[in-house]
Order: sequence, then C-alpha cells, then structure tokens
Amino acid sequence: MTVDIVSFMAILVEEVRTYQVPVVDLIAVQTHDPYRILVATILSARTRDEVTAKAAERLFKVAPDLPGLAALAEAEIARLIGPVGFFRNKAGFLARLPAVVQGEFGGQIPETVEELCRLPGVGRKTANLVVAVAFKKPAICVDTHVHRIMNIWGYVRTKTPLETEMALRAKLPEQYWLTVNATLVAFGQGTCKSVRPHCDRCVLTEMCPKLGVTPRRVPGANSALSSGAPLKLFSWNINGLRAAEKNGFAEVVGELDADLLALQEIKAEPGQLSESLLNLPGYRAYWHPAEKKGYAGVCTYSRQEPLRVIAGLGREEFDREGRVLTLEFADFFFINAYYPNAQHTLDRLGFKLAFNTEILAFCQKLAREKSVVICGDFNVAHQPIDLANPKENEKNPGYTLAERQGMYAFLAAGFLDTFRLFNDQPGQYSWWSYRFNARARNIGWRIDYFCVDAKSRTRVQGAAIRSEIPGSDHCPVELRWK
Ligand code: SF4
Repeated sequence: MTVDIVSFMAILVEEVRTYQVPVVDLIAVQTHDPYRILVATILSARTRDEVTAKAAERLFKVAPDLPGLAALAEAEIARLIGPVGFFRNKAGFLARLPAVVQGEFGGQIPETVEELCRLPGVGRKTANLVVAVAFKKPAICVDTHVHRIMNIWGYVRTKTPLETEMALRAKLPEQYWLTVNATLVAFGQGTCKSVRPHCDRCVLTEMCPKLGVTPRRVPGANSALSSGAPLKLFSWNINGLRAAEKNGFAEVVGELDADLLALQEIKAEPGQLSESLLNLPGYRAYWHPAEKKGYAGVCTYSRQEPLRVIAGLGREEFDREGRVLTLEFADFFFINAYYPNAQHTLDRLGFKLAFNTEILAFCQKLAREKSVVICGDFNVAHQPIDLANPKENEKNPGYTLAERQGMYAFLAAGFLDTFRLFNDQPGQYSWWSYRFNARARNIGWRIDYFCVDAKSRTRVQGAAIRSEIPGSDHCPVELRWK
C-alpha cells in the first residue's frame, strides 16, 4: 500500500487544528523571536510540552534576550528551567550560548542548519526546527513523532531520524517541509501515540497501513453500546424532575428513545422520587443530587451499565451542589454537567468561573484516556447568534464577557460545540424564560450543549435541538454518536 501523502497531510492539518499546539510553534506564533524559539527548542528535548512551556516562561521573564541570558549564572538558569529533562546539561548549554552567538555570529542567531549546529546543545533536529519555525526556510525537522509516523505509514522505510530526514528531503513535497513537524507532533501526542496508538478513533484508520503498530485495545468496544447504529444521546435541564413527571416525562422519554439521557436540575434526591422514576423501564439510573433540598442535582439514565461512575469533580464546593456525573463506557466518557448560574447580581460569577476551570481540567484529563462527551446546561450563550437579544444582555448572567470567555477557553482547549458543526442558523435556542410568552415568540437562549473532544469529531454523526418537546423551560438537546 502506498500512502497518498497529500491526502494524509490535508486530513491531518484539518484534524490537528483543535489539538494542543506544540510549545515551540506556540512560542513562534506569539513572539516571532529566533532567540526564544531556539531556547524553547533546546528546553523541549525529552520534555513534555507543559513542562517546557512553564520553564520557558520563567526563564524569559528574567532573560528576555541574549544579553539577559548572559547576565545569569549557570546555577540560576538551572533553577529557572528545572524540571525539564537534563536541565543541568541544558543550563550549561544556555550559559555558554550568548558568548558563542556573539563571538561567532556577531550576536545574531544564525539561520542555517550547519551554523546552528555549532551552538552548544544544538543538534540537527533542533537546528532544523529553528530554521523552519523561526526563519521559515526550507528545512524538515524530524523528531521521534515524524520518524515513527512516516514509518507506520510506510512512506519511508528508515531506521533513524537522520535517515528519515534525508528520505523526506527526497520525496516529501516542499509545501509540507515547514509544517510537517508541528502537524505530526500534535497528532503523535494526541492520537497516534508511541505506545498503543488510538487507531479506534483516528481519522486515518481506514487508510493507514498501521505498519508495526499494536493499537490500543478498547475493552468491550464491540458491545451493544459502542457498535452498530449511532447512539442517541440526550441532555435536558428538566427544572424539577417531580414536576416534569406530572407533565408527561415518562411519555417523552419513550418518544426520545434515548440510549443515554442526562438530566440537570432534578431538584430532588432519589428517596423523594416515585418508583417509576427510579426504575424507568429499560434504563439504569445514576444520581448525583445536591446536599441542599430541592436544588440543582443531576441524574443520568443509561440503557447499558457503565464500567465506572464518577460523582462530582473531587472538589467539595462544587460536588455538594450535585453538578457533575460521569459514566465511563468502553470507549468514551459521558459527562453530565450542570454549570452554576452567575445569578442576577453576578454574586456567583467567581464561583462559576472557578467551576469552568475545574471542569475543563477534568475533561482534559479524561480526554487523554478516551473520547469525551460532555453535555448539559452550561448556563452561557457564548456567541451573539446564540440568544435573541445579545446587546441587551451583555451585562446579564449567562452572557457576561467573563462567562463567554470561559466558553471560548473551553472550546479553544480542544472541545467542539457539536450543534454548530451542523447548524449555523440564528434562532436556535434551548431555553426560554417562562415570562413574556418567550417560548412562543422564540425569545430564547442556546445554553445547553453537547461538546466532544476534537479528536473524536469523526464519531459525531449529528446534533440537534429538540425545541418541539415541552415539559421544562429548557428543551432537550441531542447528539448522534458512533
Ligand atoms: S490509524 Fe493508528 S497507526 Fe495509523 S495514523 Fe492513525 S493512530 Fe496512527
């Protein structure tokens, strides 16, 4: 099988758009500064990107340029950059760097691979990356991800990164030279991992020869819940489960035919509910009520028993309000979330923003293991298109700048607002005030979401707002998930 490299790269450039950007590329975009790009590249060797980013930030605060670096003692550099891998060696290289750049290159970071390789701590890989990223000159940086993935595809058959670089120089179209490293590093960190790559959710899985690969095993992946037709997942802020029961909740559930149904604001403990709600035919129910009676709380009905149930985020201030319930299945996590309301006086804005930070970290942690679906009442309409009267509501809870920024940060961190993958029309709302006949006039807000981690985009088969369904001031939102 010969891979079509143009198609592969086109698919991956699109795929990694929402992945975490490799730290060196991030610094390049933010600074355009060859000194910082060079130093960050040196720091990044055998070091995780998060660690590199923090070390670089500490170092650049006191050494923003070569003279600043020259003023630091080696021990101080070591203190600033620890715990990057081999930080003592790297501190030695960085301590010598300003003098070498001054003495041999007149104080300017050199622009060729050969010249860069004369700097302390700079090998061919680092030099290629600096040439490509800092100076935008033709160079192919082959690190472990590029070497490994190109061989998995059979695009090259090589034993070392240097052989791979030479083979790629001979056959890779030049348009990809500058970007192949960033694309494959992001892809290698996120999906095509060095140990047990995530072929089960890879966009290339049908086309990739997977040479020498042992994909991760997804336990139970052939179970009824994760095979065959797309699953029907629903999220619904029910605004009181006992009240909803009186308004025909059981009939609506029958109509939805959900595989998973996440409810928010149940406002009840299981002990206060009828037998028919506790044992909805065909479903297992999982509860995470609030400590305070008649307040908040979430519940998830599932057709299949999950592998694990996680109640809360592990933070008491949020967990006592019954806001998050996660079911783990063989190949995805299903998170039911009821985000705090900032309140009319914005008294709880700080609480809500802290919740945003905590749940984002939670989602990111889970997404490192397998796909993540998070749904619920996010209590924010984040774009003008998502509410009927954006201008009038700019200072109101659910649409303050801080809340919108929280949602943007969530999406920028690598999660997709699935509804907008399918529908870019205005007037699509999931909540309407009970006042002013708002629902009939469609004066509403879209504050209920289904989001998934970006790497699982290919599993999203459809998304909808079921505004025709009554029973609460919110309507259900839906995701078709494969
Ligand atoms: S299918 Fe598997 S081996 Fe091939 S690129 Fe995707 S994750 Fe890597």
